[in-house]
Amino acid sequence: MADILIVEDDKRINELIRRTLSMTGHQGFPAFSGREALFVLEGKRIDLILLDIGLPDMDGFGLMKRLAGEYADIPVICVTARDEVPDRVKGLKGGAEDYIVKPFAVEELLARIQVVLRRFHKEQNVFYIRDVEVDLSGAVVKRGGRTVELTNREYELLKVLLLNRNIALSRERLLELAWGMDFYGDDRTVDVHIRRLRQKLGLEKDIRTIFKYGYRLEV
Ligand code: CA
Repeated sequence: MADILIVEDDKRINELIRRTLSMTGHQGFPAFSGREALFVLEGKRIDLILLDIGLPDMDGFGLMKRLAGEYADIPVICVTARDEVPDRVKGLKGGAEDYIVKPFAVEELLARIQVVLRRFHKEQNVFYIRDVEVDLSGAVVKRGGRTVELTNREYELLKVLLLNRNIALSRERLLELAWGMDFYGDDRTVDVHIRRLRQKLGLEKDIRTIFKYGYRLEV
């Protein structure tokens, strides 16, 4: 799992991101200014940087310039306020891999982190839940060492639950994240596929039902 530096001067947002990361098995290291970010980088091997553009001591672009030498191999995702969005092109040109606009849904942030980590070959590909092994690089799911045949839809749903493990996802969100905006289906479709996943993988208790909301994979 990745060690992620969170450069964000808003303490509440910084803490929210840190907790979200830790729920999904990443470790977040908070920094509330550019100076603090450089201090953390000196002492710790970091896999990815989440960088707020508006910082009290230097702006995110200034910090990115200073990262360009020694820390050029660490991918950066810019976190920007809506009114800073025109700057995003500048940010991406300045070496950021991606950007996300505040306020954002945590699932969206996690998805972007996952994409960037994959691009830099820093992500975890194999997950274990009890006797279930999921290999995301080969799309192979095993239970007790034996391959389990999942349909594409079941697999996509499992993947979304896994990448957002320990986070409650509404049925609508699951549907959208797993099968896309254009997918024609309703809450029932999600329920049916969850039931099949639980049965096939023996994860009746691990895929928790959140009353009147959706589901959460507890790992
Ligand atoms: Ca800020």
